[in-house]
Amino acid sequence: MNPAVSIVIIGFAAILGAIIGSFLNVVISRVPEGESVVRPRSRCPVCHTEIGPRDNIPVVSYLVLRGRCRTCRTLIPRSYPLVEIATAVVWAIAALVILTQPSIGIAYAAMSLVIATALIALTVIDLRTHRLPRVIVFPLYAVVVAGLGIAAVTGDAGDAWGAVLGAAIWTVFLGGLWWGSRGRGMGFGDVTLAPVLGASLGWQSIWVSLAGLLAAFIIGAVVAGALLISGRASRRSRIPFGPFLAAGWAVALLVGQWAWDVYSAGLMI
Ligand SMILES: [Zn+2]
Repeated sequence: MNPAVSIVIIGFAAILGAIIGSFLNVVISRVPEGESVVRPRSRCPVCHTEIGPRDNIPVVSYLVLRGRCRTCRTLIPRSYPLVEIATAVVWAIAALVILTQPSIGIAYAAMSLVIATALIALTVIDLRTHRLPRVIVFPLYAVVVAGLGIAAVTGDAGDAWGAVLGAAIWTVFLGGLWWGSRGRGMGFGDVTLAPVLGASLGWQSIWVSLAGLLAAFIIGAVVAGALLISGRASRRSRIPFGPFLAAGWAVALLVGQWAWDVYSAGLMI
């Protein structure tokens, strides 16, 4: 494809991602409270002024307002633009991958993008509330079944048994940690997310799925170690594990197959 066209498509995906990120901010603030994400319209939590369209443009409004409410000048949390930027980056990467590697199939790409987008919201919610709300996690089961089902029916390259086995291994492993630690080492929310992450990676191959699980624990150990050494956490601190599962999944999704190819090529020599 013409590089200029590709750049336009990637830019469009980023803008769409930023708009969806803006919606994720609503999800992040309301879902843990059990509130509707549709109504009422967004208001400043301090002065209750309704946020008008011109103050609701992703990232741009935050910069124009210099991070403060237009009416009462209360600081807007930095997580708002960060979530919008993160979602824009994820959508831009997705567009880049689909354009450069069409063989992965549109169903698998779309499923992965929905999961990645949900994981952004789940990461922020888990950091704030130490919970992974079922109303976000359970619909992802349907997304995985539909995505992999369509991919299988339309004959896209993929490993159906890898998906089933990946889901089983992630669930048994995280479920075992949850059960063995009586919920202290691993929350039940993490276990509910396991089949989604294990199956979606397993479609690439069981090795990619296992790499994702391994990567989650390596990233978790490194971050927890850094927090302990820097004194920002103690041995008693409860560090939510959802963000590490999300990070391990993302790493394996993007480079797991490549890493496995490099590793197995090394074994051949
Ligand atoms: Zn205000």
